[in-house]
Amino acid sequence: MWGERKQKALEWWASDFKRTFPTCPICGSDLGYDVATKFATPHFKCRSCMTVWKLIVEGLGWKTQRRYLLVEPDKDLRASSLVKKGDRWHEGYKEEFWKSLDLGGMKMGAEPAAPPRPPLTDLEEEVLDYIDKHGGEISIPEAGEELGLMDDRLKAIIDKLREKGYIEKPTPSPALTDLEKEVLDYIDRHGGEISVPQASEELGLREARLKATIDKLKEKGYIE
Ligand SMILES: [Zn+2]
Repeated sequence: MWGERKQKALEWWASDFKRTFPTCPICGSDLGYDVATKFATPHFKCRSCMTVWKLIVEGLGWKTQRRYLLVEPDKDLRASSLVKKGDRWHEGYKEEFWKSLDLGGMKMGAEPAAPPRPPLTDLEEEVLDYIDKHGGEISIPEAGEELGLMDDRLKAIIDKLREKGYIEKPTPSPALTDLEKEVLDYIDRHGGEISVPQASEELGLREARLKATIDKLKEKGYIE
């Protein structure tokens, strides 16, 4: 039963990737892709040049954004400089980057064309740098202390950086109840999968209750 569902999921991912990239961004072939999942994360391999991308989904909840991280270069190594690279602190590049990639034209290592962004003040630059160094995250009290800034001042700068498009706006996620969190946690620990009878026993929950919680998580966009 799981095997069949998993097969279906893989086929879905393969056609989804093919829809996104009808021809391989690296070699231009339309042979299609093979999909495998590692820890519930789809990996796509071009059947022609063997390039492998890993899907990165950012953000939980309603608004997610996909990026594709190159984990294995093509067999001719034309894309080797792109392996494990991404925009700023992110892993992988967005769809548009891969679509506009032109390896034939030897744009190797070229930065993806980004729309021009308004210049930053020194202070904004400093805060952005701080966020960069902390893997894209910021804790206001901690950063405020380290940077010697009042919390309000720091918050205002972060808002400015968002406004100017240097950092992404937070995606509001519907709040979870403790039970929902527990179940989501369980699913995470089990590589994104859940067997209702087994989970119900391990979590000490009646199956009906568990199913209802899973439905809620789906409704809220936390799981598919
Ligand atoms: Zn290819």
